Amino acid sequence: MKAQPKASHFIDGEYVEDTAGTVIESIYPATGEVIAKLHAATPAIVEKAIASAKCAQKEWGAMSPTARGRILKKAAEIMRERNRELSELETLDTGKPIQETIVADATSGADSFEFFGGIIATALNGSQIPLGGDWAYTKRVPLGVVVGIGAWNYPQQIACWKGAPALAAGNAMVFKPSEMTPLGALKIAEILIEAGVPKGVYNVIQGDRDTGPLLVNHADVAKVSLTGSVPTGRKVAAAAAGSLKHVTMELGGKSPLIVFDDADMESAISGAMLGNFYSTGQVCSNGTRVFVHKAMKDRFLARLKERTEAIIIGDPQDEATQMGPMVSWAQREKVLGYIEKGKAEGATLVTGGGIPNNVSPSKGAGEGYYIQPTVFADVTDDMTIAREEIFGPVMCVLDFDDEAEVIGRANATEFGLSAGVFTADFSRAHRVVDQLEAGTLWINTYNLCPVEIPFGGSKQSGFGRENSAAALEHYSELKTVYVGMGKCEAPY
Ligand code: NAD
Repeated sequence: MKAQPKASHFIDGEYVEDTAGTVIESIYPATGEVIAKLHAATPAIVEKAIASAKCAQKEWGAMSPTARGRILKKAAEIMRERNRELSELETLDTGKPIQETIVADATSGADSFEFFGGIIATALNGSQIPLGGDWAYTKRVPLGVVVGIGAWNYPQQIACWKGAPALAAGNAMVFKPSEMTPLGALKIAEILIEAGVPKGVYNVIQGDRDTGPLLVNHADVAKVSLTGSVPTGRKVAAAAAGSLKHVTMELGGKSPLIVFDDADMESAISGAMLGNFYSTGQVCSNGTRVFVHKAMKDRFLARLKERTEAIIIGDPQDEATQMGPMVSWAQREKVLGYIEKGKAEGATLVTGGGIPNNVSPSKGAGEGYYIQPTVFADVTDDMTIAREEIFGPVMCVLDFDDEAEVIGRANATEFGLSAGVFTADFSRAHRVVDQLEAGTLWINTYNLCPVEIPFGGSKQSGFGRENSAAALEHYSELKTVYVGMGKCEAPY
């Protein structure tokens, strides 16, 4: 098989198999072909991974931050050297076009190891607190064994965005990728060993919704960081609360993107397309509710239609392809269902709306899970497609004519992951983003998430932050030491 790894799991520095686990088939979404067969972790594998992490964390956490950082930066270097190989694997795992994976996946993971490797020598410093004679100091200490659970849209990036800050802060990790995309994380684990990370510090085990709880409920796990849907987030947070584990929740969204009539229209359309069609629309922070000022609506839609219909859909391994298939048959079915709901509830279909029949050139690409990039106009706030996360290339365009009105409508959702504003008026841009309820916001651009800036959601989209120095706070805790300089006095 094209992408068969040596074994399903990577524990204590080596590949490990346990064929008693349920079979997980890795399917190449462009052809429907099975490219690897793996096994979900059995309870014995889960125990082995957690025991290995627990043991390895002591040595790793005791190393100087500079020494840990040097190793993580080496991992970033190896990832960059192997970017082509990693990107090709990510394309097989997800169906995303190589044009994207070559710039957005392993490279973003490498940035993460480089950034956290570079900042930990100072970012973990504590403070000294004078108390008038007595004094205190704080230390930032690792949590211990942390669990990462990934979604299928950015498998390598998620494995690194969780692994890099966790390891930088001195923790050991057990990472479970999504059962849809099991391959990439194994390579990251291999590279970390090659870079010098001690065995057991970063382990990967496979599994699905039945495996996740074995990790979340384990007594030796101190924290769980999940990237996934809101319903899964609720379950994982509830389970973690049972034993008071730390949690980071990177969940779904239905983010608003507001285009005022003074905006640079081409730029706003680029933002809307990036925020709806990149990765075949499978991006959590997508600006799927595009509010366009009535004065610009007709021009905006005409040009958006033209540019959307020019998107090159096809073989993900062809460098010219701009849009690949969806990750799975089931996900495409779900998205097609939403498209039908949009039509039935009265939205105007501007373009797309089904399965493309001209996907070419590709060996077998026609059998893949392709879908047309779709734009609906005249969408109203109460329609299903305006309320629920679709997680596919379906853009909803809504009209507005008043700033206060659009802010209220943009916020009228349980989600709060991201938001964006396009306008030439900078005071308005800042005034509006100030009132939008979201964790990550963009002005005159969309969906850019460099490692230097915090990323994460509010409301039902989650809590905790990934990336930036802020992520280290979520993978460590403060230890405070009060130092008595005189005699200890008691009233009795
Ligand atoms: P999902 O919620 O179905 O699964 C996510 C992960 O959780 C998988 O690894 C799955 O095996 C595991 N899981 C499922 N049930 C579990 C349980 N009870 N206990 C422990 N683990 C469990 O999500 P998905 O379909 O893989 O990904 C799509 C979703 O992820 C979308 O909602 C999207 O918005 C969200 N997402 C969010 C971000 C972000 O950073 N906010 C990024 C990417 C994707």
